[in-house]
Amino acid sequence: MTDARKFQSVPGVRDILPPESAFWNHVEQTAGDVFATYQFSEIRLPILEQTELFARSVGASTDIVGKEMYSFADRDESSISLRPEATASVVRAYIEHGMHTQPGDVKLYYMGPMFRRERPQKGRYRQFYQIGAEVLGQSDHPGIDADVIEMVLVFIERCGLVGHTLCINSIGCKDCRPKYVELLRAALTKVKDRLGPDSQRRIETNPLRVLDSKLEAEQTVIETLPRIADHLCDACREHFKMLQAMLFMRQIAYEVNWRLVRGLDYYMRTTFEITAPGLGSQNAVCGGGRYDGLVELLGGPPTKGIGFALGTDRLILALEEAGKGAAAPQLDAFIAWMGAAAYPMAVRIARALRDAGCSVELPHEEMKFKKSLSLAARLNARFAVILGDNEVASGVATVKRMADATQQSVAERELAKILRK
Ligand code: AMP
Repeated sequence: MTDARKFQSVPGVRDILPPESAFWNHVEQTAGDVFATYQFSEIRLPILEQTELFARSVGASTDIVGKEMYSFADRDESSISLRPEATASVVRAYIEHGMHTQPGDVKLYYMGPMFRRERPQKGRYRQFYQIGAEVLGQSDHPGIDADVIEMVLVFIERCGLVGHTLCINSIGCKDCRPKYVELLRAALTKVKDRLGPDSQRRIETNPLRVLDSKLEAEQTVIETLPRIADHLCDACREHFKMLQAMLFMRQIAYEVNWRLVRGLDYYMRTTFEITAPGLGSQNAVCGGGRYDGLVELLGGPPTKGIGFALGTDRLILALEEAGKGAAAPQLDAFIAWMGAAAYPMAVRIARALRDAGCSVELPHEEMKFKKSLSLAARLNARFAVILGDNEVASGVATVKRMADATQQSVAERELAKILRK
C-alpha cells in the first residue's frame, strides 16, 4: 500500500483561500490605482537575490540578515537568499538598468511575498506579503517624504481602514547619527544591568534597536536615555521641521515618536510607521523612511531615496477585524437544465452571459430541477435560468429571481440584459 501521508503547509506559511483571495486582489488593485495617480509605475522583482545584496543594504548585524533570512548555496556555491524585503532589490534594479538617466524622479511600486524566519504568530508569518513604493532621484525635499506618506494613507483609507496612527521620527544622517549612537551606547552601558539579554547584546551590535524594545521591564530605563532629536545636525533638524510643515500643509495628523528607529541599517533622516487597531502586538501595518546613501552603497551614483513597505497580511487582518473584509463573490446566474436537448442551449446561454460579463455556474451532470434550484440557492445565485423541454421548444428561458422566487419568461437574446441589472 502506498503511504497516504497528509501534507501540511510549512510553519509560518499559509494558503490564502477564496473568498479572501478576492479581497487581496481588491486591495492590491486599489494600491495600483492610487499609486498610479501619484505617477508610480510597477516594478516586478525577482524573489531570489544574492545574499550579499541584503547583507550590505539591510545590514549584516540586523536580525533580518543575521537570523531570519532563508539563504542557501546555489549549485555553483554562490549564496542566494529568498528576499526578506524589496527596497534592496529596487535599488539593485535601479543601478543595474541605469534608471538614473530617466527624466525626473524614478517612482516605483512593487507587491509580492517576502520571507523571514521569525516566530509565527497572529500577523507574523514567514512568508508574508508587502506592497511598497520607492522614490529615487536627486532631491531630498521633505515634500517628497510627505507625498509618499500621503499616498500610503490615501491607499489604506480607500481600502476602508480607520483608527490608524502615523508616527514619524528623524534618525539623523551619516554626520550626526554616529555621534548620537556613541552617546547612546555609553548611556546604555551605564544601565546595562537593568536590560535583558537581547538589549545587552544590542549595545554592541545595534544600540538603536534597544529603543524598539517592547519589554515592560526596560521601558523606564529607556525613557531616561538621550534622545536623537537633541543631537541632530542643523541640516537634519531643518529637514525634520520642514517634514512636519509639509504634513501640516496636507492636513495629515501625526505623532513624533523619538523611539521609532526602524530595524534596517539603510534608513536616515525620516522614518515613519503606521499602526492599526485590532492587530494585537503586531500592529505595525506600514514602515518606511529615507535612505539617501543606499544607492551609492550598492555601487550606484549619488542618489536620494525614500519609500515604504506595507504589510498586506496585516492590512487585510485589520480590515477584517473592522468588519470590512471579504464579501462572498456574487454569482449572477445558475443554469438549471433538464433533458438532453436542454444541455446545448445551457452551454450556449452560459457563454453568451459570460461574454456579457455575468458570472455563471453551469452544471454538467443532469439534475432534477428541485436539486439544481436548491444548489443555486446555496451558491447564492441572483438568478436561476431554467431550461427544460418547453424552453428548448420555444427558445424562451424561465428566469427565477432567487431573492423573492418570482419567475418570468425571457427570450434567449434578452437574457443578458435582464441578468446584468
Ligand atoms: P519592514 O520591512 O520590517 O520595515 O516591515 C514593513 C511592514 O511589513 C511591517 O510594518 C509589517 O506590516 C510587515 N511585516 C514585516 N514582517 C512581517 C511578518 N513576518 N509577517 C507579516 N508582516 C510583516
